[in-house]
Parts: sequence; structure tokens; C-alpha cells
Amino acid sequence: MSKAILIIGGGIAGLCTAITLQQIGMKVKVYEKNTHPSVAGAGIIIAPNALQALGPYRISDEIIRQGNPGQGFYILSDRGRPITQLTIPSGYGSLYSIHRKDLHQILLSALPPGTVEWGKPFLQLEQKDHQVRVAFSDGSEAMGDLVVAADGIHSNVRKQIFHKDTYRYAGYTCWRGVVSGEALPGSSHHFIETWGTKGRFGIVPLPNNKVYWYALINARQGDPRIANYTTKDLHHLFKNYHDPIPSLLLKTTPHDMIHRDIVDIAPMERFCSDRVVFIGDAAHAITPNMGQGACQAIEDARTLAECLSVQSNYQRAFADYENRRRKRIKQISDQSWKIGKMAQSESFLFTSVRNQLMKHAPKWIYRNQAKRLYQFQL
Ligand SMILES: Cc1cc2nc3c(=O)[nH]c(=O)nc-3n(C[C@H](O)[C@H](O)[C@H](O)COP(=O)(O)OP(=O)(O)OC[C@H]3O[C@@H](n4cnc5c(N)ncnc54)[C@H](O)[C@@H]3O)c2cc1C
Repeated sequence: MSKAILIIGGGIAGLCTAITLQQIGMKVKVYEKNTHPSVAGAGIIIAPNALQALGPYRISDEIIRQGNPGQGFYILSDRGRPITQLTIPSGYGSLYSIHRKDLHQILLSALPPGTVEWGKPFLQLEQKDHQVRVAFSDGSEAMGDLVVAADGIHSNVRKQIFHKDTYRYAGYTCWRGVVSGEALPGSSHHFIETWGTKGRFGIVPLPNNKVYWYALINARQGDPRIANYTTKDLHHLFKNYHDPIPSLLLKTTPHDMIHRDIVDIAPMERFCSDRVVFIGDAAHAITPNMGQGACQAIEDARTLAECLSVQSNYQRAFADYENRRRKRIKQISDQSWKIGKMAQSESFLFTSVRNQLMKHAPKWIYRNQAKRLYQFQL
């Protein structure tokens, strides 16, 4: 069945869906509210499961070519002592870190020119017997057979259809930055996450000698004092953490830093409503503790294309997509939430016990979990 498909949102989910659906012969348009591709943003890690899902489209080759490989994460204490190593099982490939703007460019380049219409904020939609009408804030409209809602965690499509705005604040807030990695004392090629009672700090090398870092501290949601933190405030918080954390913060300019409270949405029962299907953060925003939000959006995009190509009508295809995705998403969302709680503990006693348990836990426990996580299944 060749259909005209309107995709709302040109983030990772929307662009990947455009790529996978075009490959199965669908007529696709992406409507993005921003007027041009974003050049700002931080780094992102793309895991083997997402690369497997993108395998047939050559994009995974490009991510591997342009990204920086890592075999997993070293978890360290605030003094820099090893707690554990979360390594990708052999035969599963690597994690790849890449700047978000480079990832977007790879995805955009895989689409025919004109596929994305920029400066088109979704306003509302109306489902008719045989089509969907979408209205945009600039007064224009589009008609299509189906709509893919890929408009992110604050999805207006989801609010209109499910009347749901059920965010869960995780209890911690996050800063991210990208700086040049030259001349940083104590820098390494490894992906590192440091767990201490004052907060969590991640260091991820990017290509071209850049470093992507992130810092997470416990805070009240929307606290204006914390939202205004400068790099100096963060440096004050993390100044006793191991190298190169303090120097990374001192090197970061306010312009290179972004802040966001960490929220997710409780996994929804339904990922579709008649002619509208939800994908990526619009369907299931996940806390970032497993680095899987975008990877799951990519799995969604591949799975949706598979369901639309094998099922004879869209209702069956959407039901099939929902069945294939719901359980995996719920497992990852729940696990990510728990990891966040464990990693953000401020209790000295709890963190001492936690670190010892993690240090001495049998390696097969993590290996088995990693095998399930990093294996994409259609
Ligand atoms: C701190 C942090 C670190 C993370 N790290 C990782 C990681 O390492 N690996 C990983 O896999 N995931 C990671 N994630 C998760 C990942 O960023 C998201 O899951 C992913 O970006 C979701 O993509 P999306 O396209 O669904 O949503 P978005 O990226 O939010 O894209 C939605 C798009 O829709 C557009 N839009 C919104 N509203 C409208 C509208 N009304 N009309 C038209 N367009 C609209 C937006 O402008 C945007 O372009 C992280 C998240 C956070 C917060």
C-alpha cells in the first residue's frame, strides 16, 4: 500500500521515519516547526541496537564513519577510582558518539531535497473517513492518508489526541556541554561516568578532538536558582571530582552549555489512534540513564516501516507496531528510571555499599542484560 504520510517533527524520530518509509515506497513529508536545522546541541551516543535497525539504509555506515567508537562505559567514583566497567559484549559492535548536529546532517542527507518543510508548527489535526487534515500555525494545511507524530516529549499531537500531559520529573536536572579536548589533564579515550554524592558527571570523547560532557544533580523541578547556574557554579559543585572534570567545566563557555530538567512520560498504553501513530519521544520519552531515547526512536522507525510493508491495511500495521514495541519500551523505560535513582543517591552509606556491590557483581549479569539491550529484533 503506497500512502501519503505526514510526519510532524523533524528530530531523530521524524527523519529516521521519513527514511524508512520512503524505502518502502511511501510518499513522505516532514513538517518541522523550526525554520532551519539546528546547529547547537550536545553530543549523543548511538548504540549497536540502533545501528542494526539502520543497517539497510547505509546511514549506520555513515554514523560509524563520522562517529567516535567506544567499547562501553567506565564507572568511576568521584576520586576517579574504578567502580565497574559496562562493556559491550563481543560481537555486538561499539557505541558511537557524535555531535547531534552531525547526526541530523547525516539523516537529512539521506532524504531527497524538499522532504522536510521547515517553519511549519503543527496546530491541529482532523481525522476524516479516508484522510487526515493537518493545520499549521502559519495558516497552511496538508492532507494525507496517515500521520506520524514525531514531535517530541511535549508532543502537541499527543495532547490533542490523548489529552495527556503526564510527565514524571526524575528528581534531577542536567547540563550538557561540548568543548575542545586538547590539553585536558587526565583526559582519556574512554567513555566515563563518575558517580559521587554531589552528582553524576559523564565524559564522552567526540570526533575532531572535542569532548561532550554532562552533569546531573538532584534538584527541585524548575528551581530558578539552579536553572541560572553558570559554569562557575558547576565548577564549585564538582571541583573536588577527579580530572579532567573541573578543567572541563572551566573550559566551557555559557554559550556551549545547555540545561534541562530530566522528565519522562510513563509508557503509554496506546501508540496509535486511528490514522495517527506515535513514535520516539512523542510516544515514550525515556530518562537518559541508558542512552537509549534516540536509539529506541530509531528502532520505532524501522519497525513501523516493517509493519506497514507486511500488513495489508494501516489499522493492522499500527496494531502490529504497537505490539512489537510496547514491551521493550516499558522494560527500558522502567530500568532507566531505576538506574537514575540508584546513580543519583546522595547518601554516603548507600553509595559506599552500592559501589562495592557493583564492583563485585558477577560480570555475566551485566553481559546478559547488555545482550538483550543491544540486540535489535524486528
Ligand atoms: C540529557 C540527555 C541525554 C541524552 N542522551 C542520549 C544518548 O546518548 N543516546 C540516545 O539514544 N538518546 C539520548 N537522549 C534521548 C534523545 O535525545 C531523545 O530520545 C531523542 O532526541 C528523541 O527524538 P525525537 O525525534 O523523538 O524528539 P525530539 O528530538 O524532541 O524532536 C522533535 C522534533 O519535533 C519538532 N516539533 C516539536 N513540536 C512541533 C510542532 N508543534 N510542530 C512541528 N514540529 C514540532 C521539534 O522542533 C523537534 O525537531 C538523551 C536525552 C537527554 C535529555
